[in-house]
Amino acid sequence: MHNNLNNLQEIIKEIHSKDNNQNNSVKIIAVSKTFSMEKIMPLIESGHIHFGENKVQEAQTKWPNVIIQNRNVKLHMLGKLQTNKVKYAVELFDYIHSVDSIKLAKKIDIEQKKINKNIKLFIQVNIDNEEQKNGIGLNEIETFHSHLVKEMKMNVIGLMCIPSLNSNTDIAFDRMRQMQVKLGLSELSMGMSSDYLKAIKFGSTFVRIGSKIFGKRN
Ligand SMILES: *Cc1c(COP(=O)(O)O)cnc(C)c1O
Repeated sequence: MHNNLNNLQEIIKEIHSKDNNQNNSVKIIAVSKTFSMEKIMPLIESGHIHFGENKVQEAQTKWPNVIIQNRNVKLHMLGKLQTNKVKYAVELFDYIHSVDSIKLAKKIDIEQKKINKNIKLFIQVNIDNEEQKNGIGLNEIETFHSHLVKEMKMNVIGLMCIPSLNSNTDIAFDRMRQMQVKLGLSELSMGMSSDYLKAIKFGSTFVRIGSKIFGKRN
């Protein structure tokens, strides 16, 4: 796992050194869902900072003590967030990538104020307009973003997407980048094990990588 992560870091460093236009700050989120702390701990001990989970309940069983003992670790919530789990998510996570409704944003706002936190948020974009997919459609993003930032004063740092399996990811990633620029956001959360290189080419700043680091999930 440690070697896999090192290889990824080398590949990304190589991209940066070859292309001056690439911003120098692509960060790897090691997506540790389904893997035990035994598998995750070596990465923490090697100094890796960003880790991602997609279920609040699983994260609660794994992370509370670890983040107390490793204050530099940053946890990213990547999955669908139910409003009844927000209280726990807000306690654990530093970033939430799946903000996709005003109702959810309001709940995050209420819970984080109680414990004096200011979570970094990504708006999830339903980039391929899939019917069953979470996220805000591209044509509603500007209104949604403006509501969160101007009215609710929330800390929105970027946009996140999970392109459809059979979509043209070039088009998806390019649309994401254009919207990021339009909204003046600094971050883009896109790219997974299979498409992180392309995502970086299109300006991703956080790649979310699971199986390429930890191996296949059951
Ligand atoms: C599981 C997951 C990933 C990582 O997927 P891999 O293909 O294993 O790299 C990234 N993003 C989200 C939202 C996920 O749920």
